[in-house]
Amino acid sequence: MNSDTPVREDFDHYLVPTYAPAAFIPVRGEGSTVFDQSGKSYIDFAGGIAVNALGHANPELQEALMQQAGKLWHMGNGYTNEPVLALAKQLVEATFAEKVFFCNSGAEANEAALKLARKYALEQSGAEKNEIIAFTSAFHGRTLFTVSAGGQPKYSQDFAPLPGGIHHVAYNDLDAVRAVISERTCAVIVEPIQGEGGVIPATTEFLQGLRALCDEYNALLIFDEVQTGVGRTGSLYAYMNYGVEPDVLSTAKALGGGFPIGAILTKDRYATALSVGSHGTTYGGNPLATAVAGKAFSIIRQPAFLSGVVSRHQFLVDTLQQLNRELAVFRDIRGAGLLIGCELNETYAGQAKQISQMAVEEGVLTLIAGPDVVRFAPALNISADELENGCQRFRAALTRYVQK
Ligand SMILES: *Cc1c(COP(=O)(O)O)cnc(C)c1O
Repeated sequence: MNSDTPVREDFDHYLVPTYAPAAFIPVRGEGSTVFDQSGKSYIDFAGGIAVNALGHANPELQEALMQQAGKLWHMGNGYTNEPVLALAKQLVEATFAEKVFFCNSGAEANEAALKLARKYALEQSGAEKNEIIAFTSAFHGRTLFTVSAGGQPKYSQDFAPLPGGIHHVAYNDLDAVRAVISERTCAVIVEPIQGEGGVIPATTEFLQGLRALCDEYNALLIFDEVQTGVGRTGSLYAYMNYGVEPDVLSTAKALGGGFPIGAILTKDRYATALSVGSHGTTYGGNPLATAVAGKAFSIIRQPAFLSGVVSRHQFLVDTLQQLNRELAVFRDIRGAGLLIGCELNETYAGQAKQISQMAVEEGVLTLIAGPDVVRFAPALNISADELENGCQRFRAALTRYVQK
């Protein structure tokens, strides 16, 4: 490295300390393998936090990006463009949706979903129909509205005064919802699997019950599929596993395969609430983002691709269960597709971060979901070799961890 090469200490010098990144700097990735400045390799079971659905430097995504980069980067929303139209058409064809709104992140997608719900309710029913029901431990993003809808006070309490009218109740508890829902409720926002909150799947009865309650009280059912969407659970969207259709769905993360993009999907009758001038964002539907996302989505939506996610799930879960029979570290291994959470048992409670750090030493990148859950969200197309190799490295890390 020459003296101009950035080093990890530069982070502490120049960046606001919102993150505490790893001690190494990744410089290159190929498939599900990442290399740092010293050339050390890591098997990537984190997938850029459930974003890199097709791995690193995917040749087809590179091709889509380069093609578009030579044509048109940005025009703003005074003009439409070919990639955004093609992607919207794909999303409508493949889902319950009739209309799509594009933005740049998951938080922005949820922000748009919640604003849509408030405005739709205002126009249909009046100003008093403005309450939102959300869930404990939920995560919906970091804007003030979405952090307020989220169910983790540590992310919102320091930014008061917060937007009002949001009730939080226990996840997977329909009675708790019945106790607060009313004609004043304009929306219920829920993750089909709570991702950041610990990889906690909703029960089918819960989501079906929410659908029925939303119908009864004329409230919009919003599914936050920012983490679960675009093949992550083995279905194109997790709602398809449950047979419950939302009125609005937010999607981001894997949608761009690593290029920032977010969107909400909805029905015509709700879409009209976001009339001309009522909402927007400069980069929403940007040609570069939508060209890459269009390619990613066209690959992931194929049934053969999605069944590959299911078989990878089986391998990963079988391997983790075997490991757990030997080392007795987890009390539960759960999730769907390639979103898997391993909850630590009493002996190791609170030590997910330490385990994840030991995994880095052994050359495998994992995530955590709270202090008690080690989370895996690898690329949906991770190769058999990389999957096996990563599991071996994780085995080495966990073995070393329990021995220390
Ligand atoms: C990551 C995430 C978000 C926020 O997405 P950003 O792109 O970070 O704004 C919202 N909801 C869920 C369920 C997420 O996992």
